[in-house]
Amino acid sequence: MSQSVSETFDVVVVGAGAAGLAAARTLHDAGVRVVVVEARPRIGGRIWTDRSCGPYPIELGAELIHGAQTSTVELAMMAGLTLDEVDRYNGLRWGTPARPLSALPSDDPQRRSIEQSRALWNTLAVRYADHTPDRSLAADLYHLGLDPAGLAIADVVLAQTCCAELESLSCVDLAREQRGDRTGPREFRLRERYDTLLSWLAQGLDVRLGMPVRAIISHDNEVRVEVSATALRARHCIVTVPVAVLAAGLIRFTPPLSASKQAAIAAFRTRPATKHFFWFDAPLWDEGFAYAAHSGLFARWWTPAHPDVRAPLLCCYVTASRAAVLDRLPAEIVRSLGLAELSKLLGRDDVPARCVGFRRYRWATDEYARGGYAHLAPGLAWARPALAAAEGRLHFAGEATAYDSNPQTVHGAIDSGRRAARECLC
Ligand SMILES: Cc1cc2nc3c(=O)[nH]c(=O)nc-3n(C[C@H](O)[C@H](O)[C@H](O)COP(=O)(O)OP(=O)(O)OC[C@H]3O[C@@H](n4cnc5c(N)ncnc54)[C@H](O)[C@@H]3O)c2cc1C
Repeated sequence: MSQSVSETFDVVVVGAGAAGLAAARTLHDAGVRVVVVEARPRIGGRIWTDRSCGPYPIELGAELIHGAQTSTVELAMMAGLTLDEVDRYNGLRWGTPARPLSALPSDDPQRRSIEQSRALWNTLAVRYADHTPDRSLAADLYHLGLDPAGLAIADVVLAQTCCAELESLSCVDLAREQRGDRTGPREFRLRERYDTLLSWLAQGLDVRLGMPVRAIISHDNEVRVEVSATALRARHCIVTVPVAVLAAGLIRFTPPLSASKQAAIAAFRTRPATKHFFWFDAPLWDEGFAYAAHSGLFARWWTPAHPDVRAPLLCCYVTASRAAVLDRLPAEIVRSLGLAELSKLLGRDDVPARCVGFRRYRWATDEYARGGYAHLAPGLAWARPALAAAEGRLHFAGEATAYDSNPQTVHGAIDSGRRAARECLC
């Protein structure tokens, strides 16, 4: 395609999510001429704070910081932001069809299954090396003695978090992640919300919004990134779009990506992820309620309006096959189903009548995300480093490429962006 305008840079970064902004920040601070091109009219990608719905901003995408020793915490401290610690597991309440939500005493069978599945999860790195025959997390947990009831609980507390089913998670890939993991067990939320951190990270960068990249053409001495009527030319290009966007062929590469890169892209699965928000006329739960789960369709609930624990707002986060089911239904039906489950969990009948607002965001319907975050099925762990590998002047970052950090997270995306920036600086 012939382009009427052409601009020249040292590096073009495609995508202004956490990975792209971290890459551009690193390069900019090293004195490199870098531009970021972003399809959406906003920065952040799968980080998206919505401040339009009343006094409590809501996180439609990422919300938590998983670990104290993470690049996200490091940046938040540099930006002077406030970290509110979250303790999701010790305060966890669990519901069953026969019993509304309750805190779990240590001798409770559900508590024992949760502890057992988490303990087995935490030792994956000991049991699986890169060369170990791979199996699914479901097969691993079953083999080590978790019964079907325990597996149903593990599906909620482990696989749902990974935006996958137990059956489709590769133990070798999870073990590789755990082997290098130094982040620690503590979790946080940003009081000022995630968008504040990203705006801080983007300060002074040349970010072009509303510019979907359609083609990337590599030559011997430069890369040309084609965006509507403009061609951006550079020595290097860092591609940070979600792997599901690459798999959908939204960007044409000339020459085509290598066979191993194409195989790696095809190996990843990105399942739906949907956040549902329910507003009430008053909080219908006690002050200790913070994080609750059960093995129903609306599996995980929490209070998202930190630090105000008494705000009358709940978030229900659903992924993988649960989200696939709910995403197909009209919003009104989903609202009713969610409220019916919540009524049982809270053990009160007035929940539907007290609901004054509902909103959901379905990441699977988002053209530039095409789901939540990516995972690898058994036997496909090789694909993560293969996705991350540079090809000539093309470099790849984004959460799915975080083979030496934590994929599926904001800090993993940041780390991958910094890694790709270092590749360009070599
Ligand atoms: C519902 C949900 C909840 C989550 N919760 C957490 C959490 O609590 N904690 C946590 O650490 N992580 C969480 N995550 C994961 C986290 O959000 C991601 O791992 C991280 O934000 C990914 O960053 P990224 O830069 O790799 O990708 P993205 O944020 O997706 O950025 C890629 C960018 O590329 C752009 N793009 C796509 N196609 C094109 C194109 N053709 N041209 C130009 N630009 C393009 C996109 O618009 C996007 O801005 C959550 C994710 C979801 C969806």
